[in-house]
Amino acid sequence: MRLIVVGSGIVGASCAYAATSLGAEVVLVDAARPGRATAAGAGIICPWSAPVTDPAWCALAYAAAREYPALMARLADLGETDVSYRQVGALALAADEEDRERIRLALTARRAEAPEIGEVTGLSGAEARQLFPPLRADAAAVHIGGAARVDGRELAAALARAAARQGAVVRQDQAQLALDHGRVTGVRIGGELIRADAVVAATGAWTRDFLADGTYLETRVGFRPVGPGIRPLLGPVPALDGLVVATGLGATGLTMGPLSGALAAQSALGLPPAIDLEPFTPLPGMTRE
Ligand SMILES: Cc1cc2nc3c(=O)[nH]c(=O)nc-3n(C[C@H](O)[C@H](O)[C@H](O)COP(=O)(O)OP(=O)(O)OC[C@H]3O[C@@H](n4cnc5c(N)ncnc54)[C@H](O)[C@@H]3O)c2cc1C
Repeated sequence: MRLIVVGSGIVGASCAYAATSLGAEVVLVDAARPGRATAAGAGIICPWSAPVTDPAWCALAYAAAREYPALMARLADLGETDVSYRQVGALALAADEEDRERIRLALTARRAEAPEIGEVTGLSGAEARQLFPPLRADAAAVHIGGAARVDGRELAAALARAAARQGAVVRQDQAQLALDHGRVTGVRIGGELIRADAVVAATGAWTRDFLADGTYLETRVGFRPVGPGIRPLLGPVPALDGLVVATGLGATGLTMGPLSGALAAQSALGLPPAIDLEPFTPLPGMTRE
């Protein structure tokens, strides 16, 4: 099966790597647009402290953080031994001691569904400053042992290299969706039509532009930092056969990107995704005329 992945940020590079791991023939295209989110991300992998209770978001974000170490091991097997991921812990700052206890209890409660959160420890201002000296003297904090950080540029580059090693063709070009009677047939790069069985749009903030000669998508999808509500847009577009969208990961895209890319690859290749993507359906309720 031939898959075109447009965008090689953290989501697209992960998708290309996952798809080649599943045996697909993959073309990975990226226009190297200035302002790519993956290059800007701070790289904090700590979804448990986000003030989000949406069950579908939490299931995806926690699973994504949980799977990071296994992904690092698989990349190491392919020779990508240092892609910047480190489990360094994180501090959640509190307004005062009462607030610190509230945060500590909330995070501890999340350990039942997300044991990878690690040890959750309340710290005095002095203890917190030992870990992060710029904090003010009376800052209370909670230490989250399982939190990690990653450099999005290094990880996305490593994933794209790993995909290439597994056979992906990597191109630096601007791609435009090619349609025929409501079905995606591939992409156009300049005057060239590259055909594929499916296209994954991992085009971040430029998703609307990519979706440009498709009437539905131009008018109905506009990039937001997050999907409708808090959820990402992830999965097949109901009105357009052959297109899978993977974007809208908001402020936790470096956390959710690797798993989201893998889920997009599974979906595009017709495999059952490891997580139910129904809650993330792009353009829910939309049908072809
Ligand atoms: C300041 C900042 C801090 C952040 N901090 C964190 C953090 O601490 N933790 C965390 O988990 N997340 C963080 N994020 C979020 C995270 O960085 C993003 O959600 C994530 O990088 C999005 O990745 P992406 O692959 O969807 O998009 P992008 O990285 O933007 O990639 C999209 C790619 O598509 C390409 N493209 C677009 N259109 C086309 C086209 N037509 N043809 C070819 N190529 C095309 C672009 O060139 C680009 O490379 C932060 C984001 C920002 C901005």
